Amino acid sequence: MSKYTISLIRGDGIGPEQAASAKQIMQTISDKSSTKLVVNEVDAGDGALKKHGKALPEFSVEAIKKSQACLKAPVGESAADVIIVLRRMFDLYANVRPAKSYPNIAGISSGVDLVTVRENTEDVYLGWEFNADENTVVALRVTSERASRRIAEYAFKMAEMRNDKRRVVAVHKANVLRKGDGLFAATCKSVAKKHPKIKYSELYVDACSMNLIRNPEEFDVIVTTNLFGDILSDEAAQVVGGLGMGPAANIGESFALFEPVHGAAFDIAGKNAANPSSILLSIKMMLEWLGDRQGDRNAILEGRRIEDAIIQVLKQGNKTKDIGGKLSTTEFTKLVEKAIY
Ligand code: ATP
Repeated sequence: MSKYTISLIRGDGIGPEQAASAKQIMQTISDKSSTKLVVNEVDAGDGALKKHGKALPEFSVEAIKKSQACLKAPVGESAADVIIVLRRMFDLYANVRPAKSYPNIAGISSGVDLVTVRENTEDVYLGWEFNADENTVVALRVTSERASRRIAEYAFKMAEMRNDKRRVVAVHKANVLRKGDGLFAATCKSVAKKHPKIKYSELYVDACSMNLIRNPEEFDVIVTTNLFGDILSDEAAQVVGGLGMGPAANIGESFALFEPVHGAAFDIAGKNAANPSSILLSIKMMLEWLGDRQGDRNAILEGRRIEDAIIQVLKQGNKTKDIGGKLSTTEFTKLVEKAIY
């Protein structure tokens, strides 16, 4: 038997509905398998800001530190004060965002299985913006050799394990951002030399965004800088049918945080209309990461059961509204729960 303490941020907008679905599935796994998940709810986001005057109160940080992984439902207006702070605090340098075709979902292509590996600590996300004068703002874009190397190495290791495509494409704009993206590209190229079994190529970000629409099934691992990764991964999610199917992981050396790709979706909040697949697939990624670290094969298998259950439910034509169905969040969750064991 293995036991993991998970901190769960309920978030805002559709966050609480997503978190409830996640809690239900984690409880089922705990009840029915040898992988026990102890869920500790943590206050963070717009609600916490209103209640405690801080989007990420100190006691929430302490609770997260005591857990082995964090699962975060989307946060609203205060998202930057939560996720960007946590990424920096725990040095969660790799943002991993898979985009995969699932059955019965109308996407651009039905054969997509790619992952965006986004550098998570630098670029314009440091928030270094200054007024040059009253009407002009300068935003600094930071790129270091260390962060570029670390993310490239992560991407190549992932390409070695994922499937038999074994491809890495480094995406940048080194023809314009000659120094910053020049450094990123040169570093990726030097890491590629250490991985001769992986097919390595480079694309400018504009060409990549076009190719993601034109031939998305050609992609395997995309490694890129922070802002480009943010944009391309949303695009990739839409290519396979929408944000409701998009999970993500923020990985560091000793901690990781898992979250849907999408935001708080205030337009459908409180309507029991959100697709919970994004957070449920994030649990899958979390169990794989925990299992991998602990040498716990069972945890990995329990994670894969979640994805298998979602596939089974989708194959039966059971879908939420965002992907062309009629089911509510709770109805979809119930069917996934039934299909797991
Ligand atoms: P952010 O900037 O925080 O990423 P956003 O403004 O891009 O947020 P999202 O909250 O990600 O917006 O939502 C974009 C669109 O996708 C909205 O119309 C929303 O309803 C829809 N959407 C997002 N997540 C889901 C989901 N899980 N289920 C159904 N629809 C969703």
